[in-house]
Amino acid sequence: MSESTDCIFCMIVEGKLPSSKVYESEHVYAFLDLNPVHEGHTLIIPKKHCENIFEADPAIGADIIRAMQRVGEALKKVTGCAGVNVLQNNGRAAGQMVFHLHWHVIPRFANDGLALWPQKKYASMDAMNEMAEALRKELA
Ligand code: 5GP
Ligand code: ZN
Repeated sequence: MSESTDCIFCMIVEGKLPSSKVYESEHVYAFLDLNPVHEGHTLIIPKKHCENIFEADPAIGADIIRAMQRVGEALKKVTGCAGVNVLQNNGRAAGQMVFHLHWHVIPRFANDGLALWPQKKYASMDAMNEMAEALRKELA
């Protein structure tokens, strides 16, 4: 079902590379990340190769959400985590290292010391409103 011959995640879906599978459905495969933020850190991927969210087929969205729910609930039960982050990187600048679309599902614990990203403020409310207006125009 996947198709890129030099993609490690396609090779995992096809069983040509080993993986610690946790879940599978019609369009989705999920397996443990080799380098977990916390143990249980799972990657959810579409079986059919696409590089990033912009190339994804929206028709598989429901299957992906279902996988996130199932894996997230299982992580809560198995690891005892109090919360779950779902993260997805697009492009090298955003931290993407493997160019087969994937979602990280990461168990989180109270006071586990992880800060995902520093946040800042807009220079003013006007600057914030200008940003929203530019995005609305683009999306209209
Ligand atoms: P990215 O930075 O692209 O969002 O995340 C890629 C993730 O894939 C990393 O967290 C990395 O640890 C994981 N990874 C890379 N190669 C392999 C592999 O061969 N097997 C598994 N299970 N995980 C991998
Ligand atoms: Zn692939």
